[in-house]
Amino acid sequence: VRFSVTVGASLAQMTTFRIGGVAGLFVEPLDQKSLESFIQFLREIGSPWRLLGGGSNLLVANRFFPEPIISLRRCASFIEVMSETDDVVVIRVGGGVKTRTLLNYCVRRGLSGCEFLAGIPATLGGAVFMNAGTSDGTMQDIVDSVTVIDRDKGMLKLRQGADFHPLYRSSGIANGSVVYDARLKLRKNSPEKIRGKICSIMKRRLATQPIGMPSAGCVFKNPSSDLPAGLLIDHCGLKGFRIGGAEISRKHANWIINTGGASYNDVVTLMALIKDRVYEQFTVKLEEEVQCWD
Ligand SMILES: Cc1cc2nc3c(=O)[nH]c(=O)nc-3n(C[C@H](O)[C@H](O)[C@H](O)COP(=O)(O)OP(=O)(O)OC[C@H]3O[C@@H](n4cnc5c(N)ncnc54)[C@H](O)[C@@H]3O)c2cc1C
Repeated sequence: VRFSVTVGASLAQMTTFRIGGVAGLFVEPLDQKSLESFIQFLREIGSPWRLLGGGSNLLVANRFFPEPIISLRRCASFIEVMSETDDVVVIRVGGGVKTRTLLNYCVRRGLSGCEFLAGIPATLGGAVFMNAGTSDGTMQDIVDSVTVIDRDKGMLKLRQGADFHPLYRSSGIANGSVVYDARLKLRKNSPEKIRGKICSIMKRRLATQPIGMPSAGCVFKNPSSDLPAGLLIDHCGLKGFRIGGAEISRKHANWIINTGGASYNDVVTLMALIKDRVYEQFTVKLEEEVQCWD
């Protein structure tokens, strides 16, 4: 069994919000067997644990986390071709692979389908688990099947549509399952076209979102596709409103940015205020998209 273990790792440095306390044990299994054995061991001793992907959808409390925080970035960092026809290529991608690495691979190999992931600083596992996406596409459009480590049953292969059914920002995969890898069905296209699409997506993001500031992307789910949460928050006049170091972005009202030194409580208080205001004004209950480790 092979691991890399960091004692006392800063979670702020591992989340895109740059907020969070300390992980007592940050554990990176070095191969699949070690990951499986470790999770089985934790189950046997009844220990809780958490899984950290790219940390891009997490708001983490400023406290000490005694339970092991597990990362797949060392044991599931592969991309390999599984099958290929004249126009379709199926690749198997490890859950710890960063979206940026996947996009670079797709451009190089001329594989289209993942472009919507441009600007989403996730890992493949986190993106599958959250069913990440935009109006340009979502993970459910490209995921064929996944290998998960189920809390009770161990390693399982699950087919989309048969064993799990994704919804908006939810894969339908059981909580506590580890997405070890996913098979993605992609179409062949020219690297220039794929790069062009990625560039135009990034241009649009830069124009409309506070890219570059620490954040976790959209804070709330859109109540429906024609009722964006950002529009409701904007209509409450909240753009630029701030608590401590946390500010509602002036560029996009559904983004909270850490302007420097924001705490977990600053963001949580700001989120509660947004929910209250939107409810008072529109009787719409906003639901968090960001996940909180409190
Ligand atoms: C700048 C920015 C832009 C963003 N834009 C978008 C966007 O356009 N669309 C969108 O949908 N989201 C967006 N997000 C949010 C975020 O990137 C997604 O929710 C993403 O799917 C989170 O993946 P992650 O690897 O960072 O997961 P984390 O934030 O690390 O974890 C999120 C949850 O997934 C779980 N998880 C992580 N890895 C795995 C795994 N291998 N198996 C099972 N569970 C796992 C974690 O335990 C946690 O519960 C954005 C975030 C930022 C910072």
